Amino acid sequence: MATQAPTLEDTSLKSIIAHAKEYGFVYPSSEIYDGLQAVYDFGPYGVALKNNIKQLWWKSMVQLHENIVGIDASIFMHPKTWVASGHVSSFNDPMVDNKDSKKRYRVDTLIEDFAENLRQNGNEDKAQHVIEEMEHLLEQDNLDGLHDLIVKEQITCPISGTVNWTEVRQFNLMFETKVGSVAEEADTLYLRPETAQGIFVNFLNVQKTARQKVPFGIAQIGKAFRNEIVARQFIFRMREFEQMEMQFFVREDHGMLWYEHWKEKRMKWYHALGIPEASLQYHDHIKLAHYARAAVDIEFNFPFGKKEIEGIHYRTDFDLKSHAEVSRKKIQYFDPEVNKNYIPHVVETSAGCDRLFLMLMSHAYREEEVQDGDKVKQRTLLKFHPTLAPMKGAILPLVRKDGLPEKAMALFNDLKFDFPLIYEEKQAIGKRYTRQDLIGTPFCFTVDHQSLEDDTVTVRYRDSMKQERIPMAAVHKLLAEHTAESTFLKSL
Ligand code: ATP
Repeated sequence: MATQAPTLEDTSLKSIIAHAKEYGFVYPSSEIYDGLQAVYDFGPYGVALKNNIKQLWWKSMVQLHENIVGIDASIFMHPKTWVASGHVSSFNDPMVDNKDSKKRYRVDTLIEDFAENLRQNGNEDKAQHVIEEMEHLLEQDNLDGLHDLIVKEQITCPISGTVNWTEVRQFNLMFETKVGSVAEEADTLYLRPETAQGIFVNFLNVQKTARQKVPFGIAQIGKAFRNEIVARQFIFRMREFEQMEMQFFVREDHGMLWYEHWKEKRMKWYHALGIPEASLQYHDHIKLAHYARAAVDIEFNFPFGKKEIEGIHYRTDFDLKSHAEVSRKKIQYFDPEVNKNYIPHVVETSAGCDRLFLMLMSHAYREEEVQDGDKVKQRTLLKFHPTLAPMKGAILPLVRKDGLPEKAMALFNDLKFDFPLIYEEKQAIGKRYTRQDLIGTPFCFTVDHQSLEDDTVTVRYRDSMKQERIPMAAVHKLLAEHTAESTFLKSL
């Protein structure tokens, strides 16, 4: 049976979703109209976290490499782009409808969920067998075979609980829109389903104007849109999301070397963010796109299972060649090292900003028991890497009188040019610490009566909850040391 009671994993995803909403990270889109499925808005702390992720990625890829440059291409592209890339003809997912619930499912997700359920019930061998059979059928584009597998395994619809399935069909995932003032003259445009093509069509422009020599890379962060049919698991699978992609152009005979290079380098980036090695793994693609020579996913152990956060793909010269053919433009590079013109090969790293966001929330979210005097109490906190934390510190006057707010505000005004900080004077100090734990602020600085006398403050550390007195003049250094991007970048 595919339907089941909520598991522990579902419960913890639910806690993360509730927390994200309650504390200003992620809201359902247009919630006053009951939301829009698979579309989300980011709140004050969410947008800060997201910007930090993007900035760190950008600096790690572009700023640290003299041979990687950035661009920002448009979401709309000439419609022929998507003919050349293959998206018009084959950006499809096999889907199946349940005739009773009228719900549509992606076949791979339906079968994977079934296998996961088997696994949780201790039936590892059977689960493995079902997945292997599915991968084999997907590889052969055998839609009837996939239908037969669903029926043979009696995989039920989670809504209706029946096995009353339609045949399996392919559905294109691109969103269409019309441009032009009169309907008859309107042209169909697509919302880009990936940012990569904006890079390929600009290959010549960038190579020439940035005077780059192969091997070199072009990086981009931007929105992508996919009409995902099964959009569950919060911001893991959205219809509008953000990608962080880098296409690295290389000589064919160096292709596999660069593939291995980026595969390793991208994994190290996640370790540097503090994600434990045991929570990440590689997953080699069994079904390779016809043009790809190698492809691997980096997976994170989400509360709902091991899922892709980033793909590293060796795409050969497929994209540039295809754009050259469809546009009838010569897209080539003259390599002085080998004294030859050729179409470069491409190794790409393609990460989803929102999936990284969810990974960081899942990893940071803790419910723990702490000693409070002689009592044990529960606290919830977000243990973000300080470089990624939305707010780096909170400046808190102990009471709202005796000149403490003025003293605290002066500290805030002094530091605000370098760090995003919170100033808060309402409520008891313990409650204010709790609030900072909930949004993941690594340091709180409390200004009390002693501060007026000797210019010291109490620093309270989020993770250990330890408190110590430090000179006010040392606050800037403490924040800089712990939160600076440069410290992270040097560790790569
Ligand atoms: P999946 O198999 O999970 O749909 P994919 O293999 O189609 O992912 P890619 O086309 O390789 O994904 O896209 C690169 C990255 O973009 C993914 O690793 C993921 O982080 C992100 N991504 C893709 N689709 C979505 C989505 N619907 N919502 C959020 N992020 C996405």
